[in-house]
Amino acid sequence: MSKIQMKTPIVELDGDEMTRVLWPIIKKKLIEPFVDLKTEYYDLGIKKRDETCDQITVDAANAIKKYGVGVKNATITPNQERVDEYDLKAQWKSPNGTIRAMLDGTVFRKPILVNNITPAVKSWKKPIVVGRHAYGDVYKNAEIKAKTAGKAEIVFTDKDGNETRETIMELAGPGIIQGMHNTDASISSFARACFKYALDERIDCWFATKDTISKRYDQTFKLIFENIFEKEYKTKFEAVGISFFYTLIDDVVARMMKTEGGMLWACKNYDGDVMSDMVASAFGSLAMMSSVLVSPHGYFEYEAAHGTVQRHYYKHLKGEKTSTNAVALIFAWTGALRKRGELDNLADLSDFADRLEKTVIDTIEDGFMTGDLASICKPAAKEVLDSAQFLDLLAKRLAD
Ligand code: NAP
Ligand code: MG
Repeated sequence: MSKIQMKTPIVELDGDEMTRVLWPIIKKKLIEPFVDLKTEYYDLGIKKRDETCDQITVDAANAIKKYGVGVKNATITPNQERVDEYDLKAQWKSPNGTIRAMLDGTVFRKPILVNNITPAVKSWKKPIVVGRHAYGDVYKNAEIKAKTAGKAEIVFTDKDGNETRETIMELAGPGIIQGMHNTDASISSFARACFKYALDERIDCWFATKDTISKRYDQTFKLIFENIFEKEYKTKFEAVGISFFYTLIDDVVARMMKTEGGMLWACKNYDGDVMSDMVASAFGSLAMMSSVLVSPHGYFEYEAAHGTVQRHYYKHLKGEKTSTNAVALIFAWTGALRKRGELDNLADLSDFADRLEKTVIDTIEDGFMTGDLASICKPAAKEVLDSAQFLDLLAKRLAD
């Protein structure tokens, strides 16, 4: 059988711990027998990041800018414990944060559904994708604890030194005050990334704020979204039969519980933080949540939503078998291969990605899965497999 050929390499960002163990097995067993895989490899494992003073992360992000598509393994974001564990020169920043800042991207998380795991919300039949604005608001704020009565004001000094001042409250006693911000540029990038994602996936885009209460702050989000939609995306949306729907945040939460799913839910930073965890947990498992960073400039980086599965790695180091679920990692690869196929007009490459995903889903639906899924699936699993057994079974089914 001749292998599927590629034109442009995928930028491959390797990572740490258990996911670093699974990564080459996925490539070797599930991709390389079928695809003449071209990648440009960057080792974002913690040792290499330390050795290069994190330059490798910057180089990898630049490579994604050059080629357009990357696939990333999970990486350790070092805290003090990790600095001691790996004897690091510094507490390097989160690679995801560095890459997100360089690509100006928004992260979209999408659950992978199988028919033997039922979402906690009965009506949900299709994935709900959460797109979270990852800049500003309460995550970059200033807070004051007022110990006495007094006047709380908000002051903006423009670049020429002119002040705009508003009274927040005349406090009659002790209280708390908070100031936060966002920028038109960041909100615009977020809006474009969401519209681009919805268009790409051919799904509706829902967005909500509390503009009835926050008449300037949230209203700005609403207006920027509406403006960009009208000018840049309305015709494109109409051409493929999808729509943009704006409502209030409380309304969208209530409606979401009654829908079948199948839309992109664009969320402001705090809403996205809270709602993505709710959606993930209601759909079943972190190991079944895929994630993609979409840049408004047309770059894509695919990854699993979970981390390096540290606890399983320590068992693996002791020589024990682990039942670590590789599904979200496999879907990171299929996402990247499919996108590369689309961009390079290689239908057989995109078709292969579809076929690999279908093999994964069918295998789980036939009752063969790792322990994390076996504990929540109905009817009961036919066989609970360890990581290697599950990947071997996929390889066998894929070759048949
Ligand atoms: P985690 O790696 O996502 O794992 C948390 C727990 O979730 C695991 O202990 C395991 O539960 C379960 N789990 C997650 N993925 C699984 C899978 N594929 N198969 C089976 N079970 C799975 O999060 P963490 O332990 O908090 O973080 C570990 C490291 O990952 C940290 O150093 C963190 O910095 C990093 N991290 C990286 C990323 C990223 O690169 N995108 C994201 C998050 C965290 P049981 O142990 O109960 O089986
Ligand atoms: Mg959270």
